[in-house]
Amino acid sequence: MDCGDVDKILPLIDGKLSGVLLTHAHFDHIYGLNVLASLFPAVPVYTNRAGLDELCSDKLNFSKYHGDPFVLEDAGSVRLVDNGDKLDLFDDGIEVQAIFTLGHSPSCVTWAVDDLLFTGDSYIPGVKTVTNLPHADKQQAAESEALIHQLATCRTVYAGHAPELNENNQMI
Ligand SMILES: [Zn+2]
Repeated sequence: MDCGDVDKILPLIDGKLSGVLLTHAHFDHIYGLNVLASLFPAVPVYTNRAGLDELCSDKLNFSKYHGDPFVLEDAGSVRLVDNGDKLDLFDDGIEVQAIFTLGHSPSCVTWAVDDLLFTGDSYIPGVKTVTNLPHADKQQAAESEALIHQLATCRTVYAGHAPELNENNQMI
């Protein structure tokens, strides 16, 4: 899933990493990727076409405006996904599906992993989806949120931020 502080991720993955599923490529969801790649060289990063553009531009991923410009060093590690694509990442046959939930950003992908749903910033329970950003689309975001509500009826939602972070304006 998204990659911020790598030192928080390492204890959870036990030295094994098959890939990184990006919910979108705003800087606060990607800034650890170069550190991660130094530990897991060429580990694939899954996103859509807009996500690749954002990974390669500190303007599009907004890091330039937060005083810490970030671009992905190894763009060759990116694997592009289309809406509905299924990935075979796990030995035990757990299904991973990319579901485009554009609106908050054109790079937004919600990931259905077995009965879990990773929504990133496309849907955070109890929080209004942020659409006052460049390249955001309010109408698309509303449609995506409706889709996520449907998908969530039989799945557990894991969002990109805890609601309390959003109240402090720390989410983009
Ligand atoms: Zn975001």
